Amino acid sequence: RAHLQRYADRPGRTRDRTRVEIAANISTADEVAPVLAAGAESIGLFRTEMLFMDRAAAPAEDEQFEEYRRAVAAANGRTVIMRTLDIGGDKPLRYLELPEEGDPLLGCRGVRWYPRIENLFRTQVRAFLRAAGQGPLWLMIPMVAEVDEVRWVKKIVAQEQARLAERHVPHAPGIPLGAMIEVPAAALALPALCRELDFFSIGSNDLLHDFTATARTEEPAVRGGPTAPGFLRLLKKIAEGVRAQGRWLGLCGEMGGQTLYLPLLVGLGLHEISMAASSIPAVKARLHQLSAADCRRLLDQALACTAAEEVETLLKQAAAGETAPLLDGELVLVDSDATSQAEAIKEICDALYIAGRTDSPREIEEAVWRREAVYSTGFGHGFAIPHCKTRALAANSLAVLKPRRPIPWATADGQPVTTVLLMAIRESDQATEHLQVFSRLARQLVHDDFRNRVDRERDPAALLAFLAERLEVEDALARPRPSLPE
Ligand code: PEP
Ligand code: MG
Repeated sequence: RAHLQRYADRPGRTRDRTRVEIAANISTADEVAPVLAAGAESIGLFRTEMLFMDRAAAPAEDEQFEEYRRAVAAANGRTVIMRTLDIGGDKPLRYLELPEEGDPLLGCRGVRWYPRIENLFRTQVRAFLRAAGQGPLWLMIPMVAEVDEVRWVKKIVAQEQARLAERHVPHAPGIPLGAMIEVPAAALALPALCRELDFFSIGSNDLLHDFTATARTEEPAVRGGPTAPGFLRLLKKIAEGVRAQGRWLGLCGEMGGQTLYLPLLVGLGLHEISMAASSIPAVKARLHQLSAADCRRLLDQALACTAAEEVETLLKQAAAGETAPLLDGELVLVDSDATSQAEAIKEICDALYIAGRTDSPREIEEAVWRREAVYSTGFGHGFAIPHCKTRALAANSLAVLKPRRPIPWATADGQPVTTVLLMAIRESDQATEHLQVFSRLARQLVHDDFRNRVDRERDPAALLAFLAERLEVEDALARPRPSLPE
């Protein structure tokens, strides 16, 4: 967490300086300050329906205004995209006595309700307009399928604006109006929608399920998640359609919080990606490693795939390629508090996870222990060289751990260990390069001068450079963690 938090205060951008705003999805005003502290640059989706749920009656205009006003105040000049009430389907409202529907998820949801609950909707619009007088608040309509729905909402907004003006109630004279693109029909109605609206946010949760005709609340019965090539083509069509009209486009479904999919979203050229706050640090860190030009190429390759599995493999290979160096400043752990062999191995595997080289540090740990069970890797002279081959790894890695105090280890000469050099290799790796590095390492360890220098050296960068030279690994591969871009 500490590693990822370093990115939290930086604006979201790729290493070739393409700006992608990283925003948070929230449901209450109280969340605004914590999510901004976690690295959100704005609020990309405020699910206002939470204010309406689990209560006996709808909140009054003043109560709503107070909630929205507090959110805008806490955002301190950053945009808050508030979604108008999104009820129906998986979000019922007891007190409205909405009629029973055979298939609520495909029934009356979001914007489709508004003409039937017009007074309630007008109340919410007034609360929004008043709060928007205090800071940048954008209004977003859920479940839009066709342009008539948007025209109806615009009429109501204009009327309520006029009413507030008549009564001299402070409010915003104009408010940016947008729609979720989460009903596939909206994706095909874009030219008309763009003429009516200022911005869009892709609701990939509903869009994916409606597009692939799979249940949102269950595991999809058919194969393929957001990487289904057909779904990616739909996203591409949306991005091109919105860009062609010069409108702003974000994405606020769950797919936005998954680092594996990030290159695809960057490739689409989104202005903003909004997600659960817990995903922000990891997404921002990955974003800083990506090149937008590479992401566009990767998206083209993904679009040419015929199955989701191919796209997943492509994305995993790309992720592995980004973290290619065998030696890396993040994998040099000096003055470790590890007091046992188990703690040392666990700490290194966790470092591989933090460096983004594995999603499953435990699997790597198990692979190391399987090897230890065959023979101990205690080399002697205070060195241990545990190693493994595992499919849980994204990039071949050589990690160094130097404990504060020598660690007991089953070594050839009975001496405790002061330096652990752990080599983890990808199971799929057919190349022999790592074997050469490993045998060079074994040869070097025989020499006093090598062991003494590694033993003495406590500066991670110097240690890295020394190992790179002696193991004949390209200098470029031994770079310490680059300093973060401004
Ligand atoms: C979506 O559908 O992707 C979305 C963000 O809205 P919700 O999850 O609230 O339906
Ligand atoms: Mg939705």
